[in-house]
Amino acid sequence: GNFVPPIRSNGGNAGSMTSRVAGKGDDASDDSTKRCLEMLCGPDGELPEKLRNLEPRLIEHVSNEIMDRDPNVRWDDIAGLDHAKKCVTEMVIWPLLRPDIFKGCRSPGRGLLLFGPPGTGKTMIGKAIAGEAKATFFYISASSLTSKWIGEGEKLVRALFGVATCRQPAVIFVDEIDSLLSQRKSEGEHESSRRLKTQFLIEMEGFDSGSEQILLIGATNRPQELDEAARRRLTKRLYIPLPSYDARAWIIRNLLEKDGLFKLSKEDIDTICKLTEGYSGSDMKNLVKDASMGPLREALKQGIEITKLKKEDMRPVTLQDFEDALQEVRPSVSLNELGTYEEWNKQFGSLS
Ligand code: ADP
Repeated sequence: GNFVPPIRSNGGNAGSMTSRVAGKGDDASDDSTKRCLEMLCGPDGELPEKLRNLEPRLIEHVSNEIMDRDPNVRWDDIAGLDHAKKCVTEMVIWPLLRPDIFKGCRSPGRGLLLFGPPGTGKTMIGKAIAGEAKATFFYISASSLTSKWIGEGEKLVRALFGVATCRQPAVIFVDEIDSLLSQRKSEGEHESSRRLKTQFLIEMEGFDSGSEQILLIGATNRPQELDEAARRRLTKRLYIPLPSYDARAWIIRNLLEKDGLFKLSKEDIDTICKLTEGYSGSDMKNLVKDASMGPLREALKQGIEITKLKKEDMRPVTLQDFEDALQEVRPSVSLNELGTYEEWNKQFGSLS
């Protein structure tokens, strides 16, 4: 009865809950925790059941660092991947937009796996799903759960799913999901990472059976490391391959046009696309970046000072700039790796 909250409370559960932990931090962070909890309160001013026993600082971390209300990526920003876009639209976006139609026989899977080489647009797809379905996007890297949040990973996972439940429809994107749900169960596996994995599977089970509008997307470059339990829960498994010739052409044009630097001919683009077989989307982006430095470097070489340089002093980006950039930016994925993905896709992937 003698308890005096160290910060002023505006009433409501969130305030009192924050007050209980407020003694530990400084005023600024107490205020921000409080604001964050208040935003999660229902119309009755009470914190939802699922969040009541969680540590406010973890709820705040999820709300501020992991949650992204507008990821700002649309289908049109992603080159190629028509098969993945079609599957995802049917399996995920429509059900999120029309839950009333997608129930019973049509009830959607709640777990989607995107696998393939790094830098091919898996994260972009996750963000686009959230954007297109007007859902809240949560991004977490599974390796940060095991490295940065040692001993606290389980609690953070509970907070993550708890906040997602309050922010439906929600998309939870778990990058490098193999590091969380891998099949390596050697003696070396730490007790804490086993507990983390169990907690994660429990949370997934929880929303799988319920009526929640939460989709879990796992992304991995190492699908072969996933165990059977993980595969069972990630019912749809889509291969996200390296960009095709057309997709590479699209990336070059799109990035240069955005900056008003596009002056390449059809033949130039054809030459670049032929030279970039095996490049990932992210390699292509790095290549365009490097090539677009060409005109700048040349203008500076002619003696113009960087502080006096005007946009008009620079010529457009040319094929030669790309040829020079190709010496610097090499493909990051090896041909051997591709074979592994294709094999796994044949065995476990969703082919249609
Ligand atoms: P992943 O999650 O597969 O490792 P990302 O989605 O993070 O790859 O992609 C990294 C960057 O590479 C993106 O920000 C984007 O600039 C570029 N990129 C990769 N794939 C594509 C694509 N299909 N279309 C357009 N840009 C792409």
